[in-house]
Amino acid sequence: MSSKPRPIVVSGPSGGGKSTMITRLHKDYPDRFSLSVSHTTRAPRGSEKDGVEYNFVMKDAFKKLIEENGFIEHAQFGSNLYGTSVQAVKDVANQGRTCILDIEMEGVKQVKKTDLNARYLFLQPPSVEVLEKRLRGRGTDKEEAIQERLKQAEKEIEYAKTPGVHDKIIVNDDLEQAWKEFEAFCIPDEKDRKS
Ligand code: ADP
Ligand code: 5GP
Repeated sequence: MSSKPRPIVVSGPSGGGKSTMITRLHKDYPDRFSLSVSHTTRAPRGSEKDGVEYNFVMKDAFKKLIEENGFIEHAQFGSNLYGTSVQAVKDVANQGRTCILDIEMEGVKQVKKTDLNARYLFLQPPSVEVLEKRLRGRGTDKEEAIQERLKQAEKEIEYAKTPGVHDKIIVNDDLEQAWKEFEAFCIPDEKDRKS
């Protein structure tokens, strides 16, 4: 391969289907994509493991990494901090894979100011009502966290209306249809796709 693959930034409200799509991308294309493993101060949820879904760290460790300029971007989401470390993106580049970043909108704004040359994809729920049902159905968040996420969702959806901020907006209504669009964005060349 001659040129470096451009990273893909996946954003959208919590509960919008980012993990669902990214998990399927890994399953169907195990050698082609890797997630940039973010740092977070939130506690692991369900079966999440340290170093896999996130690097789970205490607030002090997170702040130390900020001081050391260890983050490409970082932001507060609800009461927790989240960030993409320089190292996480390097690790994926060293594997020669396309780096996937799953981040919220303040992070998106910061990545846009870097030289990462990313492509931007937004996963939009069909409505806030459906989003609420999916968040509840996922069964991983307490009521307070659900309310926080719904409030944040409105901001994410509003930001996504700004012309040009995303290269592609996918409305995640029917799962198979959304997956096809997601796959097509991540793998622009049709002959390389599985479905
Ligand atoms: P995110 O990673 O953006 O927070 P998830 O991928 O965890 O969102 O999805 C939230 C919940 O919605 C999960 O329980 C997932 O199985 C479900 N879900 C995702 N997409 C759809 C869809 N198109 N139809 C129905 N349920 C969906
Ligand atoms: P969750 O707690 O549901 O895993 O993530 C909450 C929100 O934080 C999601 O919108 C997710 O995209 C975002 N997020 C996850 N990692 C990062 C990161 O490294 N940076 C930023 N800015 N947001 C992140």
